[in-house]
Amino acid sequence: MGGMTVETILGRMFIDGNWERGERERFRVVNPANGQQVGDAPIASDEDVARAIDAASRAFRGWSGLPAEDRSKYLHAIADEVMNQIDDLARMVTLEQGKPYNEARAEVKYGADFWRWYAEEARRVYGEIVPAPRGRRIAVIKQPTGVTAAITPWNFPSSMVSRKLAPALAAGNTVILKPAEQTPLSAVLLFEIFEKVGLPEGVANLVTGRPEHIGGILMNDFRVRHVTFTGSTEVGLLLAKQAAAQLKRVSLELGGHAPIIVFADADLDLAVEQILASKLRNMGQACISANRLLVEGPIAEDFHSKLASRLESLRIGDGSVDGVQVGPVIDEQSFNKISSQVDEAKNEGAHILVGGERWLGSTEGYFYRPTLVTEVTPAMRLFREETFGPVLASTVFHSEQEAILLANDCTYGLASYLFTPDIDKATRVSEALEFGVVGINNALPMAAQAPWGGWKLSGVGREGGHWGIDEFLETKYLSIGVTEQTR
Ligand code: NAD
Repeated sequence: MGGMTVETILGRMFIDGNWERGERERFRVVNPANGQQVGDAPIASDEDVARAIDAASRAFRGWSGLPAEDRSKYLHAIADEVMNQIDDLARMVTLEQGKPYNEARAEVKYGADFWRWYAEEARRVYGEIVPAPRGRRIAVIKQPTGVTAAITPWNFPSSMVSRKLAPALAAGNTVILKPAEQTPLSAVLLFEIFEKVGLPEGVANLVTGRPEHIGGILMNDFRVRHVTFTGSTEVGLLLAKQAAAQLKRVSLELGGHAPIIVFADADLDLAVEQILASKLRNMGQACISANRLLVEGPIAEDFHSKLASRLESLRIGDGSVDGVQVGPVIDEQSFNKISSQVDEAKNEGAHILVGGERWLGSTEGYFYRPTLVTEVTPAMRLFREETFGPVLASTVFHSEQEAILLANDCTYGLASYLFTPDIDKATRVSEALEFGVVGINNALPMAAQAPWGGWKLSGVGREGGHWGIDEFLETKYLSIGVTEQTR
């Protein structure tokens, strides 16, 4: 496949089963590989957002009242259609977000896994019968929470929508989605699929535009009982405060700063390949991306040079060109954040073994060379703040205890990784890590059937597996009076 060209794509909003056709102010969507406009999308008015909430509220009774099996059929149909259209969906991800096309396909497939998993999980929302006192029965049932607001980030513009909407709809909720302003077009394609499979009107609604404005309306409307958000910790905290005013339920998947511990006895070739895959997926713009490399003293030099030579060998460029392994970062602001963290660390005494600068192979786009910084200390910003770029920050440790302390010395707690063949050590260390996900000799933990979520400032709640649907369900206790007969 060569570089992709398309006509400018017209983003649209989908409210109450209709594509909105009226004139509105619009915002531009650009390709981060070359800065060219890919398309645009409308800016929702107050009235648009209010109509989306009205529609979701009206649709709730019918949708939640369907037998689970019927909802399941819609979700299976969506999963099928996502896989039928995987080429187009992936192309859109690469165009508006920049990741290499093969990665974009993997992202779309990951999204389809959620539609499939929750199509099945919809039918397993079981209640419980609890032993009760005489003259009563205790039954516990689970019911959908109601109208859900879903707010998604730009880094996985297709799968983050699927990861939220699939369990929400499976549970019987109705949804208003607000995708990221950098990447609204992948969401439009998913909504075209919802329309194609005949999802009843009002069940899923799409609004685009100004985040604070749309967020404000959603958070102030009492009918919205749950907000599910993936994005930065900063915005997550703001939404949690806003939600508190009406005690809306919040599910927050926020930032991370994953440590990756390489013990001296590790299979170093495996560790290098896994770290590269984790670090460079989406150019390091993933919440679970390996960031803080913690390497045991005796192997540090050898390990760093193995890693450095692999980082040097990667092919950088426009993600739509065959063979490209590392694309651009999303925008100038991101690029500046990455380079300022690296420059600052360098000025404070860290050593740049490879990279540490703009890639000069293109005059357009925001390309940062894959980078390995060594001699990083916990005092440096690179060690503490999410970098969200292709940068590995390495610190040497000398004991198991020190590795654990360094790994946990962080306000985030999403993903962490460790490499050792020693089962005792792996068990001890994984139990001591204050993170929601621990990869043991594995740095690619994404799977629809597993519980995904963070500790500390990385969030609350879980997505994926049977845990993921619980976020969208209320528990109801039925106390049933029964006239007993003497036996
Ligand atoms: P962001 O917080 O800037 O934006 C996320 C979404 O929130 C976007 O749709 C944005 O428009 C919206 N938003 C921004 N301000 C808002 C407001 N005041 N009210 C309502 N909505 C608002 O994050 P981002 O830059 O798009 O995404 C990157 C971040 O997402 C990183 O921190 C990354 O770690 C995190 N992330 C986490 C996970 C996870 O599973 N934990 C997954 C992917 C990304």
